[in-house]
Amino acid sequence: MFDYAAPKKFSPSKTGQHRGVGQHPHRGFETVTIAFQGEVEHKDSNGNSGVIGPGDCQWMTAGRGIVHEEYHSEEFTRKGGMFEFCQLWVNLPKVDKMKKSRYQAILNESIPKVALRSTDGVCLDEQKALEDGYARIIAGEFQGKKGPAKTFSPVNLWDVVLLNKKKTFELDIPDGHNGLVFVRRGAVEVQGKALGLADVAIMNRNGEKLTVKATEKNTSLLIMSGEPIDEPIAARGPFVMNTQKELKDAMQDFQRGLNGFER
Ligand code: MN
Repeated sequence: MFDYAAPKKFSPSKTGQHRGVGQHPHRGFETVTIAFQGEVEHKDSNGNSGVIGPGDCQWMTAGRGIVHEEYHSEEFTRKGGMFEFCQLWVNLPKVDKMKKSRYQAILNESIPKVALRSTDGVCLDEQKALEDGYARIIAGEFQGKKGPAKTFSPVNLWDVVLLNKKKTFELDIPDGHNGLVFVRRGAVEVQGKALGLADVAIMNRNGEKLTVKATEKNTSLLIMSGEPIDEPIAARGPFVMNTQKELKDAMQDFQRGLNGFER
């Protein structure tokens, strides 16, 4: 699941009332939240809490169970401003669905930035190449550079910025991965096909090179790929399991405050 909240202006709150989602459970998968503008505050039943701001990511493994809340940060609520974020639900393999929950705060400064490779040859000056376009590696690997997120199955999550409209860039997607390209800003040609704002391209599994060329200034893409888990999916509300029975168990455990849902 991929959910994107487009840029929206929030005025300063006079009452200070928190905007967001109150306490709710998850089991069987991971929620990955990236803040592009504004601030998100997180608190969970393991005692983890934190605020993520522009460029930061929060990678939460619900595993066998967690209860959390997701709000605009207090300061953002008070001051107001532009807000833009996305949340990705990453499924877990059956063997990992009931593991202990985990929280990774991945801050902007810990996310490596790698220059994109243009089709007109390798630029040896990395600093100069960064000015044409780069990828921030949140998870997985890009041109030999690894991102900080720990994942249970092979997943790539790259925040890609295209700055030079004259250049065509080539990106390697691992053979066998399913993938998505999401246009967060501007417009782009992907494999020669035009995509506009908020468009999505779905990639197949043949490991072909991905070719991208910005057609507007200030173009940003989110590129996600992952090795298919190929197991049955039973999903309902905040739970993603393999069978209906496991969904029922999740609901019951939550109601009774058991198996990871202790509050
Ligand atoms: Mn949630």
